[in-house]
Amino acid sequence: NIAEFLHQKGDKRGFSFEVLPPLKGNGTAALFRTIDSLKDFGPRFINITTHHSEYVYKELENGLLTRQRVRRRPGTVAIAGAIQNKYDIPVIPHIICSGATKEDIEYELLDLQFLGISNILVLRGDKAKEDRQFTPTENGHSNATDLLKQVNQFNDGFFFDGTPIKHPGDKFCCGVACYPEKHEEAPNLEMDMQHLLEKQQLGADYAITQLFYDNEKFYAFVEKARQMGITIPIVPALKPFAKLSQLTMVPKTFHCDIPEALAQEVLKCKSDEDAKALGIEWTTAQVKDLFNHGYNHIHFFTVSAVDSVKQIAKILF
Ligand code: FAD
Repeated sequence: NIAEFLHQKGDKRGFSFEVLPPLKGNGTAALFRTIDSLKDFGPRFINITTHHSEYVYKELENGLLTRQRVRRRPGTVAIAGAIQNKYDIPVIPHIICSGATKEDIEYELLDLQFLGISNILVLRGDKAKEDRQFTPTENGHSNATDLLKQVNQFNDGFFFDGTPIKHPGDKFCCGVACYPEKHEEAPNLEMDMQHLLEKQQLGADYAITQLFYDNEKFYAFVEKARQMGITIPIVPALKPFAKLSQLTMVPKTFHCDIPEALAQEVLKCKSDEDAKALGIEWTTAQVKDLFNHGYNHIHFFTVSAVDSVKQIAKILF
């Protein structure tokens, strides 16, 4: 149970990281190389993302376009099982609303129970790249709060249609996402955080943040959360800056600001190599500052940044 461990106080420092399942058609070799390169630093858990709902538009014979859902990255549950099988490290597969019906989600939960996996991160999921706004799947959920209610019902021993589960398994320990700089669609931070409070009331055990480069924004967020009565552990999550193009891509994709000091330094970089070195330096300083503020567990996003996370882990863990 990840939450129990996140609640523990003490000086012991540690980290976790997130991986993506392989793209359709790819094997697990690259994924295992990523884990191999980080496992010796003692990660406490590994998150596995889910990507259900990419859409492609196909032209019909009459010239009209039709929208078809494709699963670009299958197998979160299976990959979680494979990682758990190969490494002695707890896994947290992500369960998302996008592209999934309530029934799909139920089968994911059942499969996880068969694998003995009881930690999950409960999310709405990104909107499809081609879409302007999030489109709920028919017979699915519109937000993470509703998905959490389905998991609660499952934990209480009932399928989504109300049928009792004959042999209920272990209850799921649920983490959720939170956004120190506000979720992109929320009208304001206050309203976004009310939904985080609601998730806590629905039994969310902890929250993992969206990435951020300015620790002050994270500290202000946690302070506000505590004032609102949000008491669950809030895990800071970071992604080392690794490429020059991220200066514009990161704010656009993750809706977080690049602090002026970091942006100025990136502008001085002549190559991606320079940007990567700067990113390692910046994130290392962020982690040290988080440690000094009593945050002893750091979560890392590893996309395009595996080697950077490894360099940081070498220094700090
Ligand atoms: P929600 O909590 O549903 O929030 C979405 C919006 O709806 C917010 O503006 C919120 O304020 C509002 N809202 C929440 N509850 C309600 C309610 N009851 N009524 C009305 N409005 C409400 N995406 C993926 O596709 N796959 C992943 O594996 C993945 N992993 C992630 C891991 C982390 C740590 C983080 C921080 C994000 C991750 N994401 C992932 C991205 C995430 O799915 C998107 O940011 C998504 O847009 C929102 O997800 P959420 O769970 O925060 O949604």
